[in-house]
Amino acid sequence: MKSLDLNRPVTIWKEDDVVDGKKEKALVAIFRTRGCHWSRKGGCSMCGYNVESLEGIGAPELTAQLEAILSRYEGEGMVKLYTSGSFLDPLEIPEEVRDRILSSFDNAKQVLFESRPEFVTPEALQHLPDHSAVALGLESASDKVLRCSVRKGFGTKDYLRAAEAVNSRGLPVRTYLLLKPPYLTESAAINDTLRSVRFAAPYSDSISINPLNVQKETLVEGLWRRGDYRPPWIWSLFEVLKSKAELPGVRLFSSPSGAGTQRGVHNCPDCDRRLLDVLEKFNFEQDVELLGGHHCHCRKEWDSLVGLEELMRTSVDVSRHLGDELVL
Ligand code: SF4
Ligand SMILES: [Zn+2]
Repeated sequence: MKSLDLNRPVTIWKEDDVVDGKKEKALVAIFRTRGCHWSRKGGCSMCGYNVESLEGIGAPELTAQLEAILSRYEGEGMVKLYTSGSFLDPLEIPEEVRDRILSSFDNAKQVLFESRPEFVTPEALQHLPDHSAVALGLESASDKVLRCSVRKGFGTKDYLRAAEAVNSRGLPVRTYLLLKPPYLTESAAINDTLRSVRFAAPYSDSISINPLNVQKETLVEGLWRRGDYRPPWIWSLFEVLKSKAELPGVRLFSSPSGAGTQRGVHNCPDCDRRLLDVLEKFNFEQDVELLGGHHCHCRKEWDSLVGLEELMRTSVDVSRHLGDELVL
């Protein structure tokens, strides 16, 4: 059984990212905290992050976690700090610890952290070092989707206020969008994320498309187990990413969790790996030509499904209910 040690971060890993248009090595760490305040009120419909959170984590435990993270730091140009909640929530990370954490990475080109908009206050922004970047999980630019599907607990106007405040402070915003929240058909999901990309682009330095990954003990997991939800197709993700062509100044990318599995974004076993390799290339090259011209027998199934769901006016996992009859 995984042990939940208050003095150890949830996880640390390294990956590539981009700062000011250039590829950089990034250290990524997830602090264990008391968790997202919104998850105490039920949380978002797809979020299972609260399983990593623990009561009783204060300044001494967070300082010990910082030590563990620093022991893995090898001067990477980018540092990404997550908390399974909001880095700027003083109940998760007390202000004095926040300052200590951020000043530990003074030599990095960029330190990115995520926060819900309600914690992006003028006071918080004022104290941030100039190499900070703020990630905002907007998920969707539709207030109806945020309210009825994601259950986000904030609206688009809250995102706009926070994004404008970060921009006015001269810091970059990374916006996270959720591809295919529950109750949306595949085609509605594509259109919702395309609209959201256009909405967030003027405020964002980069936009990360997060195809829904079915996490344990969530509302979405219940729907998925009953066949009432299917994570998005990679074909759909590619349709969304093609909108990069309209957004010269914004990096549009996706690093999906659980990709190629039944819980994550997937097509079929014959093309998943090949298309995910293309995605990885696109993430850094930003060339939409890479996303076109791919073939697989499952594309016909995806195409039929997109039409059929609209005809049937349903967002359930139609192919799980109809099986082979789907491909006409
Ligand atoms: S998705 Fe973010 S805001 Fe929603 S419950 Fe999870 S951590 Fe909180
Ligand atoms: Zn396929």
